[in-house]
Amino acid sequence: GVLIFILLISCLAGWSLDKYLNKTITPADALRRAIKNGEIIPYYQPVMDGRDNSIRGIEVLARWKHPDAGFISPAAFIPLAEKSGLIIPLTQSLMWQVVTHMNAISSKLPEGFHVGINFSAAHINAASFVEDCLKYQAGFVNKKLTLVLEVTEREPLHVDEQLISNLNTLHANGFAIALDDFGTGYSGLSYLHDLNIDYIKIDQSFVGRVNEDEDSTKLLDCVLDLARKLSLTIVAEGVETQTQLDYLNRNNISLLQGYYFYKPVKFVDLVKILLSKPKEKIERYIES
Ligand code: C2E
Ligand code: MG
Ligand code: MG
Ligand code: MG
Repeated sequence: GVLIFILLISCLAGWSLDKYLNKTITPADALRRAIKNGEIIPYYQPVMDGRDNSIRGIEVLARWKHPDAGFISPAAFIPLAEKSGLIIPLTQSLMWQVVTHMNAISSKLPEGFHVGINFSAAHINAASFVEDCLKYQAGFVNKKLTLVLEVTEREPLHVDEQLISNLNTLHANGFAIALDDFGTGYSGLSYLHDLNIDYIKIDQSFVGRVNEDEDSTKLLDCVLDLARKLSLTIVAEGVETQTQLDYLNRNNISLLQGYYFYKPVKFVDLVKILLSKPKEKIERYIES
């Protein structure tokens, strides 16, 4: 019995090992194939209005639904996508899915509902950027959404006249620009100066340290003060605790995102969340 068991185990181990050894495919090729196969899907995290706990919008966050490895985090594949030039088809694929999803619930989305999507510097500086955004915008049935383009501070942008004029074009077409992960990069302040930014998203590493020590809290106080003086709307990311929420409420930060409220969820769960208040709305939705 034991022998058969060992044989069985080694067979299984051998089989799965083989499967991996036969993988002559490079990570970039695997990602390219995943994009084509629709394995890169959008998750959605609600953005809250702290004043009345209503949902003001969502942020799109990419997930790789790998058939063998399960869900792969964007921290693992976005850098690969950026290096291999796949970030453009990846983002285009996400945009198309987001349009389809939002159109399915179009009439349930309130006027001004934020739909935020992340862009890498490689895409923002690419020739197709403005065209990609305008096509994306044209796809939405609901024309009263606020489409937010989240620009990360993580990767350096190539700021030149072309970029400034592209962002101005998008502004003129009703897009809002958010500077993501504010405070973590080197260029945040110069971006605020050079680019037409509407929102700054305070990175979770700042929010997470609130009330932990005096200096961190002071630092955040200054960042919030700066944003206010520049008339920027602030979004706080990574809100996890009541203590953090209390601080943000005291400072009139009304746009909040974090596990304290909701984790990123797949589309079907977003629909449930959006329609769960008040209760009768769910029934109406299920009926129609
Ligand atoms: P981000 O744009 O700053 O997104 C916020 C990240 O914080 C997300 O991680 C989200 O799941 C996580 N988060 C939200 N609330 C909390 C919280 O309360 N606590 C903690 N610990 N984390 C929280 P995620 O989804 O793993 O994405 C990581 C980063 O990958 C994103 O940071 C963004 O820079 C990048 N990314 C994700 N999707 C895309 C995409 O479609 N395109 C591009 N270019 N980048 C993307
Ligand atoms: Mg973001
Ligand atoms: Mg961020
Ligand atoms: Mg972040």
